[in-house]
Amino acid sequence: MDGGSNAPVESTLSCARCGKPANLQCPKCVELRLPRESAAFCTQDCFKESWSSHKSVHLKLKLSRLAASTPDEQISAALSNGWLYCLKKGQTRTSKLPHFDWTGTLRPYPISSRRVVPASVEKPDWAIDGTPKIEPTSDLQNVVEIKTAEQIERMRETCRIAREVLDAAARVIQPGVTTDEIDDVVHEATIAAGGYPSPLNYYFFPKSCCTSVNEVICHGIPDARKLEDGDIVNVDVTVYYKGVHGDLNETYFVGNVDEASKHLVQCTYECLAKAISIVKPGVRFREVGEVINRHASMSGLSVVKSYCGHGIGELFHCAPNIPHYGRNKAVGVMKAGQTFTIEPMINAGVWRDRSWPDGWTAVTADGKRSAQFEHTLLVTETGVEVLTARLPTSPNVYPWLNP
Ligand SMILES: [Zn+2]
Ligand SMILES: [Zn+2]
Repeated sequence: MDGGSNAPVESTLSCARCGKPANLQCPKCVELRLPRESAAFCTQDCFKESWSSHKSVHLKLKLSRLAASTPDEQISAALSNGWLYCLKKGQTRTSKLPHFDWTGTLRPYPISSRRVVPASVEKPDWAIDGTPKIEPTSDLQNVVEIKTAEQIERMRETCRIAREVLDAAARVIQPGVTTDEIDDVVHEATIAAGGYPSPLNYYFFPKSCCTSVNEVICHGIPDARKLEDGDIVNVDVTVYYKGVHGDLNETYFVGNVDEASKHLVQCTYECLAKAISIVKPGVRFREVGEVINRHASMSGLSVVKSYCGHGIGELFHCAPNIPHYGRNKAVGVMKAGQTFTIEPMINAGVWRDRSWPDGWTAVTADGKRSAQFEHTLLVTETGVEVLTARLPTSPNVYPWLNP
């Protein structure tokens, strides 16, 4: 404290309520460093009586300061452009950034309004009201389906479309592009192929793909944040076409990325490749996690436990459940004709995850980066067919794939 006096100050101000000489200032105004002239009160009683009308002064001041500050500047600017972002599943949208103990530097940004799917596109049962009806109670949550040749042929077609959609998204990724713009590319490419973007309105998920930046493990919501030089971003695409889903994701580099992030992304790519290499009839599902855990821990990285690979077909998510971590308790063995995903999420720091208040975004507990790759696979008589495999036309974005 500087050398002020504790002696009462001769007041020249008048009470904001009754006009008598006033010497009291609202404690919140003091905290916000408002000048004494803005509002003074003669007694506690007058202050209390004025509170319901007076408190709006604080809010107005906070909003005006928010508009002039740096990181929030973009958020409020985007809000005035008509952007809104969405909180918990099924909740109405709100423009207020919730209080949360953010684990890293990333923050939610406003999300755009819902994208439209043409009436001609065949839709899954959650498209209208956000609630899957067949999926949660299906027998296929308990038994692993053996697909018919006809189902497999549709899976091939759908997975090929999903790959082409993801590749279209990959081609636009660069610093300055928003994740919402990526979502737009995914949405338009999907409907252009006659498909429905499966994540859209799945348990009220508001967008057509997931975009997971830096410390986001998975289920990031595309929003108004511009990708920055040095970011990593995972794009997870699922397409519903001819009655079946095809699901894949990749993690991309934005501009120039540090060595630790390159190592993380390459190792995650290798984890998926090694897991796929053991797939064939007779192999236990629990072996997948052993292979992934071995490679990740050898590289000084950790494996996420909360999210697993899953069966896929006419349902988006069904049996089997395939953990990516070691010493897991997954039951069953692989059989020809099964289709499922493997999608390891690998962290630079701790394996633990936390969820944002939006109810979707999963982030690392320590705020360090996370990467992921995913394929939809078919078990064949002799091994595996990667239904979402890269194509000769897929963008050449991974240096380790070049001979
Ligand atoms: Zn996916
Ligand atoms: Zn998946």
